[in-house]
Amino acid sequence: MTGATIAVVGGGITGLAAAYELSRGGNAPGVVLLEAGDRLGGKITTTEFAGVPVDCGPDAILARVPWAGELMRELGLGPQIVSPAAAGASVYARGRLRPLPEGLVRGVPSQVLPLLRSGILSPSGIARAGLDLVLPRHNHGSDPTIAQVIGGRFGLEVVDRLVGPLLSAINAGRADSLSLRATAPDIEALASGSRSLLLGLRGHRRKVPEPSSLGPLFISLRGGLERLVDRLVEELRAAGVELRTGTPVTELGRDGRRWRLDPLDRPVDGVVLTAPAFVTAPLLAEVSPVASLGLAGVVYSSVAVATLAYREAALPRPLSGSGFVVPRSEGWLMTACTFVSSKWPALHPPGRVIMRCSAGRHGDNRPAALSDDDLVDLLHGELKQAVGVTEAPVQWRVDRWDRSFPQYGPGHLARADRIDAALAVGAPGVVVTGASMRGVGIAACVRQARDAGRKVWPGALPH
Ligand SMILES: Cc1cc2nc3c(=O)[nH]c(=O)nc-3n(C[C@H](O)[C@H](O)[C@H](O)COP(=O)(O)OP(=O)(O)OC[C@H]3O[C@@H](n4cnc5c(N)ncnc54)[C@H](O)[C@@H]3O)c2cc1C
Repeated sequence: MTGATIAVVGGGITGLAAAYELSRGGNAPGVVLLEAGDRLGGKITTTEFAGVPVDCGPDAILARVPWAGELMRELGLGPQIVSPAAAGASVYARGRLRPLPEGLVRGVPSQVLPLLRSGILSPSGIARAGLDLVLPRHNHGSDPTIAQVIGGRFGLEVVDRLVGPLLSAINAGRADSLSLRATAPDIEALASGSRSLLLGLRGHRRKVPEPSSLGPLFISLRGGLERLVDRLVEELRAAGVELRTGTPVTELGRDGRRWRLDPLDRPVDGVVLTAPAFVTAPLLAEVSPVASLGLAGVVYSSVAVATLAYREAALPRPLSGSGFVVPRSEGWLMTACTFVSSKWPALHPPGRVIMRCSAGRHGDNRPAALSDDDLVDLLHGELKQAVGVTEAPVQWRVDRWDRSFPQYGPGHLARADRIDAALAVGAPGVVVTGASMRGVGIAACVRQARDAGRKVWPGALPH
């Protein structure tokens, strides 16, 4: 260890992974992690429900974005990695659940026949989608929304019934306000590089390995995602990282060439800020007004997650696939439902079936106005319609995630660049990272965290 100290603010996955990166190898600085809450892990939390460990927040990690899986394996958790048993999801469209067709890339079609057969689009929606093949290239400006690009190529039904629900399940956002570049950069690159997006995607799929040969799309851990938090905490303790919970940081200021954080009793040489943007913005007001202003502009949406257990006998038929999404145009409270017991067979208590319903997205804050009882009643009513459940749930719980999903609107990535640049010039040694900046998913948070660790402490020796 050197005499230097780096402070990490926030003990979610980003803060924990940044502290891990900083504490590894030779020449590591002292690391102190300050977490406002009384536990570590942030949005990653697993608690027992119906006798099995069910995640309250995130429940799966995108495996093809490798960083979280790599971290798990590095921490010795490889043998604990599990992947969903049930493949394929559905969408509630035109009065019933319909399996999503083959060939979708984040909801964008790359094959015609499966889309036609799916019954998801109306005849006029299909005709409009086909225009993608003949419409001329269109310039949407520098950072268009998902709806502008995908709607422009395939029409608004594809946006409403496919792309919107799938992306909103990840971002709790709306296709007409999220930046395509920030949320699906691969699609944006194809859309700007080829006239027909369907043909562009098809050409791209030919060049890359078959999705089925790449292994599972999602992964989790036996016992729930909180096992990753537990293992990281164990590792950090062993490395001598000081972990302080119940310690909200309320001020950040200069101390000569070092940094002072209230309530930390000593100055530090570098700071990694991983709390939500609305927390970090006021902290930076004095040391970098430009970065502070940028972060203050990040809008968040809130969601509620209701986990329901039913008697297995209350279902008219076994649930098929991993769950379903609901288009905004249906007007439902529910945005998505995971068939927990089908997706993760270890979470199938005898005679019970567990489902997890999400409600709320950008521009739809109805869950906030509902009591837990009313929320569950309404979601149960929608489940009756979707899967035909015949009895009330035997057990339920509601987790509310207020201001939890940063919305990457047009200009978000340019804002993140401005924040980085302002800090590099005006507050060297201070880095902002995590879900507020460059990726909401856990894998993207891990990548950012490890980059931030190396950025704030470039003196680290190879591990
Ligand atoms: C319901 C839900 C479902 C999700 N599902 C998935 C999924 O399936 N897969 C996936 O990849 N992602 C999912 N996500 C997104 C993902 O969980 C988050 O984006 C990610 O966990 C964010 O990690 P983070 O460390 O950046 O932030 P957080 O987890 O929010 O951690 C930030 C931490 O900072 C702390 N803090 C706040 N203020 C202060 C302060 N003043 N001082 C010190 N500490 C402070 C907070 O208490 C918190 O612990 C989901 C999110 C939610 C809410």
